[in-house]
Amino acid sequence: MSLPNCPKCNSEYTYEDMGLYICPECFHEWTQRDVDKILEESIVRDAFGTELSNGDDVIIIKDLKVRGASQPLKQGTKVKGIVLGDVGDGHDISCKIDGFGHMNLKSEVVKKA
Ligand SMILES: [Zn+2]
Repeated sequence: MSLPNCPKCNSEYTYEDMGLYICPECFHEWTQRDVDKILEESIVRDAFGTELSNGDDVIIIKDLKVRGASQPLKQGTKVKGIVLGDVGDGHDISCKIDGFGHMNLKSEVVKKA
């Protein structure tokens, strides 16, 4: 079993002591509950609460205005191979869409295909 890296300094020399994780390098202490919370917060879910993963295909569930584009991104558009991650401005999906190129989306406007 491997212990998680220190969330503060990313040290891999963390150890466990009576349910507490301790980092010997920066003396940060945290619990499994903190780890679970961070994991839970990092999960990206679609508009219906389904967990999304890197590489998933999703479908846009409403028309979206695209800055600089002559037409909106239509509801029902299929997006292949999404990449998850906070890309700023509340967007947590980046992807490529035919006819639009690289786009950032919010997970709340897609559903898992
Ligand atoms: Zn540390």
